[in-house]
Parts: sequence; structure tokens; C-alpha cells
Amino acid sequence: MKQPTLGNPQNTIAVLQKYNFVFQKKFGQNFLIDTHVLDKIIRAAEIDAEDMVLEIGPGIGTMTQYLACAAKKVIAVEIDRALIPILEDTLDGYENVRIINEDVLKVDIGRLAAEENSGRPIKVVANLPYYITTPIIMGLFENHVPIKSITVMVQKEVADRMQVGPGTKDYGALSLAVQYYAKPYIVANVPPNCFMPRPKVGSAVIRLERHEKPPVEVKDENLMFRLIRASFNQRRKTLANGLKNSPELDFEKEQIEEAVLSLGKGASVRGEALTLEEFAALANVLAD
Ligand code: SAM
Repeated sequence: MKQPTLGNPQNTIAVLQKYNFVFQKKFGQNFLIDTHVLDKIIRAAEIDAEDMVLEIGPGIGTMTQYLACAAKKVIAVEIDRALIPILEDTLDGYENVRIINEDVLKVDIGRLAAEENSGRPIKVVANLPYYITTPIIMGLFENHVPIKSITVMVQKEVADRMQVGPGTKDYGALSLAVQYYAKPYIVANVPPNCFMPRPKVGSAVIRLERHEKPPVEVKDENLMFRLIRASFNQRRKTLANGLKNSPELDFEKEQIEEAVLSLGKGASVRGEALTLEEFAALANVLAD
């Protein structure tokens, strides 16, 4: 297998100039130019020679080269057509890479895993386009794609939101959803100077290790997530009022008040004070 040639500023600039590449802000293009960060991501993802890796947004193929050296197979999904000839060049000789020119949100990843990995769980590794971090991660979980772990670069603030619990301002629907499906762990904070062009915000690598079984038992997953969304959409309201006002829910006022009281936290408790276990309990009471 060839050794990676990209990952430092000189080689990245040379590739960009060769193809007169113009960065597209709308695609969240901030390319990694730091080999230490790349090594850290690959190590944190714990890829071995049996793994199939899905890379979302390969850019000019920097991380793809590293992934190809570690994994059995890499599928890289890139939306920007202008990057495809570049990827064909930088990944020439890496026989285990397949490039798909598509919007990742339109790709049936479950089917890809079935076709390319006989339905066995895959690992997702990416320096994500920040404008669609949440839909990408939630899509992978909610569609029940067979996944072992997700190791991704995201905006620092989003990484914090994924791993906090109740009682902090960052706690919200994303924290609960991520923690229902996976165990989050922040691997490293990454400053803007590790990218080209530099993003305006700090970044972090986060690893989400998928739970084999969710940490709470819920009769109706969908109802629990509707309750969570309803409580955080109206953060400043009490939990009971948030649920009563939600267009996504259709319970009698009394049913909601009774269910909230059953949590033992008082009638004026706010949704942001509830743990995942308490949201599950609330959903189970209302499901009955
Ligand atoms: N992996 C490269 C790196 O680390 O240098 C590039 C990372 S850059 C932050 C995000 C990449 O995702 C860009 O190449 C961008 O074109 C691509 N991208 C943006 N939106 C996408 C989408 N909806 N589907 C697939 N790729 C997308």
C-alpha cells in the first residue's frame, strides 16, 4: 500500500494549484493540513484491516489516504463534482477506495453496508462539513445503519453539546439523542490553524461508540424523541407547558400533568432538568 502523501500545507497547496481548485463555502470546505491531527483521528477510530470505513466528504483525499492504509475498504462520499478528478489523482494506486459523487444525506448507507460489507457494522470517520453535522449523525443513528463507531471532527461547541448532561446550557435534544445511541468521548480539541482555509470556530474530534443496547428501555422510541424535541423547542417554558403546546404531540392537558408529576420533580420542572432516564420514564407513562 502507498504511504500518504497529503496532510501538510505544501502538498495540499500544490494539489489545489494544479487543479485551480476554488473553495466552496456552501460545502463547508476546510481541509486538514496537520499530520499529527490525522494520526490522532486514525488512532482514535481504531481501524483494523477487517474494517469497512465510510468517509463523509473526503475533500482532496487527505484523510482518505490514511484510512486506505489502515482499513480493508474505504467508501468516500463527496458532493463537490470539482473534487472528483482530484480524488482520482490523489487516490490513484489505493485499490481499496471507492469514491461516490453524491450528497451523503441522499445515500442509503444501510444498503451500502449491506452490499459492501455483507451487512456487518461499519465505522464512520470524517472531518464533517459543519453545516450538516446534526442531520448526518442523527440520520446514521435513526435509520439504524449498522455502525460500530463514528469518529468525526465537528465544531467544538457541537462536540460539547453531544457529551453534556442536565444542568448546563449546552444540554439539549442533540445530547440526549447521541447519548441514547452511543457513548461520546472527546478525543482532541483542534485549533483553526490545522485547516485550510481556517474556520472561524474551534473544532474537536469526537468518538461515538455505539451502544449494543440503549442505556434505557423505552416502549416507543419515536414518542420519547418527540417529547425531547417538544421540551427543548420551548426551553424557557415548564416541561408541562412545552408538551401541551407542541404540534407534534396530542395528549390531554391532564394526561401531561399527571405524567410530569409521576417523575417526582414537581409540576414546574423544566425539560432541561431531565435526564435520559427521566425522559424514558415520561415516554413510558404516556405510552400507556
Ligand atoms: N476530509 C477533507 C479533509 O479533512 O481535508 C475535507 C473535509 S471538509 C471539512 C468537508 C468535505 O465535505 C468537503 O470536501 C465538502 O465538499 C464535503 N461535503 C459537504 N457537504 C457534503 C454532502 N452533503 N455530502 C457529501 N460531502 C459533502
